[in-house]
Amino acid sequence: MSIDNEATSSGDGQEYETIDQKVLIVGAGAAGARTAIELVDQGVNPEDMLVIGKRGHGDAHTTWARGGINGALGTHDPEDDWTIHAADTLNEGHFVNDPEKVETVTQRMPDQLQQLDDWGMPFSRADSGEPDQRYFGGQSFRRTAFAGDHTGESMLNTLIDQAQDRSIPYSENVFITRLIADDGRIHGAAGYDMDAGEFVVFDSDAVLLAAGGYTSIFHRHSSRDDENTGDGPALAYQAGARLMDMEFVQFHPTGMVGDRYGDDWDGRLVTEAVRGEGGHLYNADGERFMERYSPDQMELDARDVVARANAQEISEGRGTDDGGVYLDISHRDAEFIEERLPRMYQRFGDLGVDMAEEPVEVAPTAHYGMGGVVVDKDGQTDIQGLYAIGETMAGVHGANRLGGNSLAETIAFGEATGEAMAEHLPVGGRDSEFLHDRADSHFGDLSRIVDTDGQHDPEDLLDELRATLWTHAGILRDGDSLSEGLTELAQIREKASDIEVGGPTSRSFEFAMNLGFALDVAESILKGAVKRTESRGAHARTDYPDADPDLRVNITAQQDSVGGMGLKTEPVEEPSKAVQDALDEGHELDYHHLE
Ligand SMILES: Cc1cc2nc3c(=O)[nH]c(=O)nc-3n(C[C@H](O)[C@H](O)[C@H](O)COP(=O)(O)OP(=O)(O)OC[C@H]3O[C@@H](n4cnc5c(N)ncnc54)[C@H](O)[C@@H]3O)c2cc1C
Repeated sequence: MSIDNEATSSGDGQEYETIDQKVLIVGAGAAGARTAIELVDQGVNPEDMLVIGKRGHGDAHTTWARGGINGALGTHDPEDDWTIHAADTLNEGHFVNDPEKVETVTQRMPDQLQQLDDWGMPFSRADSGEPDQRYFGGQSFRRTAFAGDHTGESMLNTLIDQAQDRSIPYSENVFITRLIADDGRIHGAAGYDMDAGEFVVFDSDAVLLAAGGYTSIFHRHSSRDDENTGDGPALAYQAGARLMDMEFVQFHPTGMVGDRYGDDWDGRLVTEAVRGEGGHLYNADGERFMERYSPDQMELDARDVVARANAQEISEGRGTDDGGVYLDISHRDAEFIEERLPRMYQRFGDLGVDMAEEPVEVAPTAHYGMGGVVVDKDGQTDIQGLYAIGETMAGVHGANRLGGNSLAETIAFGEATGEAMAEHLPVGGRDSEFLHDRADSHFGDLSRIVDTDGQHDPEDLLDELRATLWTHAGILRDGDSLSEGLTELAQIREKASDIEVGGPTSRSFEFAMNLGFALDVAESILKGAVKRTESRGAHARTDYPDADPDLRVNITAQQDSVGGMGLKTEPVEEPSKAVQDALDEGHELDYHHLE
């Protein structure tokens, strides 16, 4: 970590560094980077801000995003516009999205794509020279812009170049373990330098949580094991903010199958772009089974529909010997696949599979948490001065996310939240004495687990938790199994009080921090799923197979006065007239027009 303005402070026996910075941005993926850029463009001095991440520079999960980013540019389909993009998003979100947030994203995206283009993002191009756009599931038109199948990496590189042009300071390998808030006001954050193993306090007027999502706490997931561990939602929850709709977890239909490609590849994503470029799904009997599940939209129906179809084929014995179904794009020639899907082609080539000659094997994998932190239209949480954005926030995707809408959310809300934060600065009321008092006590707690010799390995407990969620809150759920999941979780929580941990530079220390976050996030998923006695989007309950109109609500979770988790339901707003009109027009992709 190297930071310019730093001071050393000492509390009750705990040595730590204090960094005084008006704005702290926790997270250096697309959401954090885009907000930082906007803050500077709105007049905030870059010296008054700091972006941190718990990995090296440029190494955020965003780099794994492959297939594309949505915006109604109309490169091929001029009849597309932002209202239809909003209508598709609400439709596939099963109408529990926050329409205002959906409009923020869809309305801003055409300009945001143009801006990324102006900033030098290497979009794949149509013959006209405009950014090319491909089909993605559940969308009425081709509106997913892309850079081959390395869209996230290219976008983050573009944003980092822009951030560097603006001299925005960045510190790598810093892990935030606690937000410090009181009376509904943020005062800063506490954490540690993962290289030096030293504790550090951030004395900040405003904190932005852009710390990613929570799906790697499921056994089979498309994320890296050490990203998407739920840090963002857990930090906000533990500081007193509300979480929302945590039970809505997207299972992507096409994760790689470990039995065929090896454990290291298990659950890794085969991008939706393979289906967007014409890939077909077959079961082991050679049947193109989507004809039975979704005869109009076929493989390009929404992810929840295709994922459940894949799962059903496998569970009813029509899967492959390795436990998957086939995804086949071999009717396209090698040049086409190499140009449109270069990373996929290379990855499978390295594993000895030529996608131009034979199918690959896939099965559902946990991919994206639609739930997250409750924020208003500006990205402000319930706690004054604490903002949340990107995969950490809730509201845009409802019960099911459209592919390509997540990168869009990071960029559109990056601009919107940056504008709002700049306007609200300085927030006022920062209490440094309170901050240090709480930081002392928190570091005291952390010191007590350093070099402990307890019975349980935190990494093993994380694996247990992942297995619990996969088994009890997976692609199909029911009340009894969810309750068993809560019982198992309580047992893991009990074991977590007796762990074996090394010093702050050790992996076991990081796993212990992750475990603390994952326990709260898992509880919010299981409890939300118990309370939602219906099936809606990605949340499929076998004991309540239909959607319940009375449950067209959001479910929030918040710490109660004795530290337990209290759940409430909150009403959903209605869309604007422009978007309602687009919904009433009933746009829908007819897949067979593509063939
Ligand atoms: C395999 C894969 C493919 C995808 N493809 C697409 C796609 O094609 N299109 C699309 O729209 N979406 C896609 N997504 C989703 C999309 O990539 C993510 O939702 C999006 O990149 C999230 O960006 P973010 O900035 O919110 O978070 P991230 O990119 O996850 O960044 C989080 C940041 O927070 C930091 N951080 C986390 N915890 C802490 C902590 N405790 N202390 C300090 N720092 C912390 C991390 O180091 C990192 O810098 C894909 C996701 C996956 C897993």
